[in-house]
Amino acid sequence: MSALTRRELLIATGAGAAALMLPKLPTLADDKPAGFTLPALPYPFDALEPHIDAKTMEIHHDRHHKAYVDNLNKAVAGTEWANKPLEEILRGYKEIPDKIRQAIVNNGGGHYNHSFFWQIMAPASKSGQPSSELKAAIDNFGGMDKLKQEVLAKALARFGSGWAWVVVGENKALNVINTPNQDATIMTGAKPILGIDVWEHAYYLKYQNKRNDYVNAWWNVANWEAISENYAQAIKG
Ligand code: MN
Repeated sequence: MSALTRRELLIATGAGAAALMLPKLPTLADDKPAGFTLPALPYPFDALEPHIDAKTMEIHHDRHHKAYVDNLNKAVAGTEWANKPLEEILRGYKEIPDKIRQAIVNNGGGHYNHSFFWQIMAPASKSGQPSSELKAAIDNFGGMDKLKQEVLAKALARFGSGWAWVVVGENKALNVINTPNQDATIMTGAKPILGIDVWEHAYYLKYQNKRNDYVNAWWNVANWEAISENYAQAIKG
């Protein structure tokens, strides 16, 4: 071990003194949980062009989804819900006190639905096909055209903002539903395999008021690998 020179000692002491002037490091006692975080998009903003434009994706993810995450963190701050998994919070939303329930449902649902939504889309060139198991379930439903028609009908029937979903119900068959606002299907026990955001923020820049054109175009960017995996998980449990 080499002895420190007086100069080295002074430098070391100086560095130590500077470090002491830094803000106090958090201790366990005042450390805060990391909170809910905005997941990165699994592809670039322009990956879904021309069906969903880059500007819409950027605003949708970086501003709308981020706002749900930020407002969810504010709503749960200092409550026991701050440390619970989001799925558990939404499934048990009736247990949340009146004062914070709607804020948690709106923003927790917004965070949950959008995190799901990004995963079930892919560039059109990578859209793929349903698995053989999912294809059989779609055939049981009446075929792909019937499924798309039903999703469009539910999307158009949702007055104002909400989502159209393909879910697996208790009988394990496919069912098409819609939900208002940011309500999550898991609040009712239904397991989503596919969902289309029909809030105007999801399509207005490119499609304006033509929600039907947006929904019809959406199928070009359906990520059938992810949707098939959601189906496989949904029929398991
Ligand atoms: Mn949205």
